[in-house]
Amino acid sequence: MPDLAALLAPNPRIRVLRDGSPDPDGTCVVYWMQRAQRGTDNLALNHAIKLGNALKLPVLAVFGLTAAYPGAQRRHYRFLVDALPETQQAMEARGVPLVVRLGTPNEVVEKLCNEVRPAIVVSDENPIHVGQKWRTALAEALKVPFRCVDADVVVPTSLFPKEEFAARTIRPKIHRVWHEYLKPITNPKAVVGWEPSKIPTGHAIEPDSLLEDLNIHGVGEVANYPGGTAEALRRLERFIKYRLPVYATERNEPEPYNTTELSAHLHFGHISPLTIALAVMEANGPKESQDSLLEELIVRREVAINFVSRNPNYDKLQGCPDWGLKTLAKHADDRRPVLYSAQTLEAGETGDPLWNASQKEMVLTGRMHNYLRMYWAKKLLEWSPDAETAFNLTLDMNDRYEMDGRDPNGYTGVAWAIGGKHDRPWGERPIFGTIRFMSYESTRKKFDSKGYIKRIKDLEKS
Ligand SMILES: Cc1cc2nc3c(=O)[nH]c(=O)nc-3n(C[C@H](O)[C@H](O)[C@H](O)COP(=O)(O)OP(=O)(O)OC[C@H]3O[C@@H](n4cnc5c(N)ncnc54)[C@H](O)[C@@H]3O)c2cc1C
Repeated sequence: MPDLAALLAPNPRIRVLRDGSPDPDGTCVVYWMQRAQRGTDNLALNHAIKLGNALKLPVLAVFGLTAAYPGAQRRHYRFLVDALPETQQAMEARGVPLVVRLGTPNEVVEKLCNEVRPAIVVSDENPIHVGQKWRTALAEALKVPFRCVDADVVVPTSLFPKEEFAARTIRPKIHRVWHEYLKPITNPKAVVGWEPSKIPTGHAIEPDSLLEDLNIHGVGEVANYPGGTAEALRRLERFIKYRLPVYATERNEPEPYNTTELSAHLHFGHISPLTIALAVMEANGPKESQDSLLEELIVRREVAINFVSRNPNYDKLQGCPDWGLKTLAKHADDRRPVLYSAQTLEAGETGDPLWNASQKEMVLTGRMHNYLRMYWAKKLLEWSPDAETAFNLTLDMNDRYEMDGRDPNGYTGVAWAIGGKHDRPWGERPIFGTIRFMSYESTRKKFDSKGYIKRIKDLEKS
């Protein structure tokens, strides 16, 4: 039986939003699932279960599904709701019923807590503005302790209390401690079960009826891009078998993809980064590829989470470093070679066939390779009247069309491409100043861009 005092002791992975002892009259532990949408390898759910077992109380999971998630479109909701039945089954197998209700998440949880009177409430962590707003609002409304577990990073975000300058500044700090966190996750079961008649009612966990009742429209669904933990594990297995051997040398080649293609599953919490890291470390090399994947998955991803957690302007041009803002301001009046309207850009009808193909790939399939994302965003700087317009349009299209959009990695990627975030000054040139530039000629020669453009044309026709 877990020791309650040990569970409640200070822990870098746990943020206490409402302190105190569990309510002795409480009837259960509530786990509010928000970002970590999975029933296994979930450190937040595990914490709730361990608390329930120590308190000899049952655990109830709740998910509040809002139709007003900023920027989310029909394709994102489809990805999310399709995974819910599987998550429900995984939680039930661990003795934790899942209740899904429609509404603003913190309000859904508050109402449910008024119905079941928990002893303590546990959630996961989400650094983006809306995630923080919901957590703060719930902490203010609750009368029992409320704790958030940083379940979607390998190294807890709290270990880096200041904004890091670049990957090179956080890398040694991460490497110094990551062995402490790269350990298998156990999946304990709840010891005390629920009497079925006492489980609060919720919406049927049926994807189509959830989507219908949410009444979501916007950017449409995409084929062949399923969400969920089983799909994430299938992708992980494919990566280890076929792609890991060439990841170090070919990860930057957009045709064919040799990466995990797990960013959307990570975004929705369908898989833990720890699950991916441990599987890759246990795989049969090569070492350079294993190291390269851990660099992207842990160092690059967690420096992005650090940026979003520590810089309130992460989603604005002002969030970029001073040197980047200054050089862009110095070149604000430089003549642009061409200015395209937002409509021409959205339709992928510019004079650049490589850019058009990547835009269309994103619109049609919800994905774009990292290497082309860099080129795609930098061209938007070149073709916009000013850097702020470019930043906002890049982020807006990234977030609406990419399945993994609205993620710390996206805010960081856009700030990197347009404003030099986590980068350094390069040679001075028009429009970009000292922000790193990518040309059509050099980008198209780095891979089979002709084959790529043809594939996207065929996709468009199909
Ligand atoms: C302009 C621009 C916009 C971007 N928008 C997003 C976005 O909206 N959402 C998103 O998740 N990523 C974004 N990225 C980062 C990167 O392109 C994607 O994470 C990557 O392409 C996802 O593919 P993968 O899962 O196959 O990556 P893999 O190469 O298999 O890497 C494994 C994981 O490591 C992390 N990772 C990989 N590359 C990066 C990187 N450059 N920065 C931070 N983490 C990384 C991701 O979580 C990824 O899933 C953006 C990059 C740029 C330049």
